[in-house]
Amino acid sequence: ATPGNCILEMKGISKTFGAFKALNKVSLAVNEGEILALLGENGAGKSTLMKILSGIYTATEGSVHLDDKACEINSVKESQRLGIILIHQELNLLDNLDVAGNIFLGREPVKAFKLIDLHKLYADADELLKLFGLTIPSATSVSKLSIAEQQIIEIIKALSQHARIIIMDEPTSSLTLKETDLLFEIIRNLKAKGISIIYISHRLNEIIEIADRVVVLKDGQNSGELQRREINHDNLVRLMIGR
Ligand code: ADP
Ligand code: MG
Repeated sequence: ATPGNCILEMKGISKTFGAFKALNKVSLAVNEGEILALLGENGAGKSTLMKILSGIYTATEGSVHLDDKACEINSVKESQRLGIILIHQELNLLDNLDVAGNIFLGREPVKAFKLIDLHKLYADADELLKLFGLTIPSATSVSKLSIAEQQIIEIIKALSQHARIIIMDEPTSSLTLKETDLLFEIIRNLKAKGISIIYISHRLNEIIEIADRVVVLKDGQNSGELQRREINHDNLVRLMIGR
């Protein structure tokens, strides 16, 4: 795909939990190398939509198309194979592995241990950490890391899995302002590499700062979309709460 091309389309996605309709015919398109913000009040359905995209939930109806081809995403593994990586609100690094282990071995531990030279693995991991401005050695236990550092490890892991689309679900909710700045710098670097970011937030100032485009959900439905030049506080509030 050439830069800016639509690479992913979710069409008419609905999701019911028992009698409750969390999503009602939601559509979402993602372009290559863009920072797409997904905005909505608590309970609007943002996380549910992204859990469907990443294979955690199955949609009740609707379809997902990658590079104009319909695809079935029935597991997290399948979505990862398609290059879609979700970084959770609740982080999920493996506490009993060190940083290098989390970056390279989380996926296929048995195979990786057999095939990969461990010295090279740690050297590669150290190199990646440096690239992302982290000075910790890759043999550090992840339980010793800050939330911000853990997020960066998740991003590095996503890149090592050849991610095309990285979904970040409310990534700044436990970060300091300084950590948020570092994360935004990393997000802009990912964009420059042609990676698409789906950035979930309900913080308007963050969206105004970082988003190329905004899709707004309200009560489980599309409530509107704003292009870069239309993104401002009033427009965002109008679409988010309908005033
Ligand atoms: P958001 O991420 O926008 O805050 P969610 O996608 O988490 O919203 O939730 C949308 C709605 O779906 C909420 O009303 C929530 O309570 C409901 N919901 C989400 N997950 C489940 C679930 N596993 N079972 C039942 N209801 C759920
Ligand atoms: Mg959520």
